[in-house]
Amino acid sequence: MKSLSPLLAILILSACTQAQTDVQKISKPDSYWKEKLTEQQYLVTRKHDTETAFTGVFWNHKEDGIYTCICCGLELFDSETKFKSGTGWPSYYTYIENHVEKSTDMSFGMMRDEVHCARCNAHLGHVFDDGPQPTGLRYCINSASLGFEKR
Ligand code: FE
Repeated sequence: MKSLSPLLAILILSACTQAQTDVQKISKPDSYWKEKLTEQQYLVTRKHDTETAFTGVFWNHKEDGIYTCICCGLELFDSETKFKSGTGWPSYYTYIENHVEKSTDMSFGMMRDEVHCARCNAHLGHVFDDGPQPTGLRYCINSASLGFEKR
């Protein structure tokens, strides 16, 4: 049997990878989220609120696993990329590829990069450029926007 050319093999492989990582966006009415979430989860994820530092369930959480979107369940952050930031919010130096998106937030007279779930648009937190290597970034995330699945 004739084997595939290396180029063709790469093209097929990249097409498969693309199909696996594409996130299908979902849109639900405000009433749906209000019903599904606690008041704090709703205010953070749908109204861009920020939880008070050192009050969330994950700022000092050290278990091995995956942090998911509290709204839609999409896998967002791996515990292997979590680090101790001292800020009182769970902090990660990167996210699970294609599952988190960034936009510019102009509120409170500051220009900050807001991050949200790529599937349901839930507000998660902000990203700053004072994180550790290998990215140098600090994804500062509200515990209220996250769930957790143990590995
Ligand atoms: Fe989501």
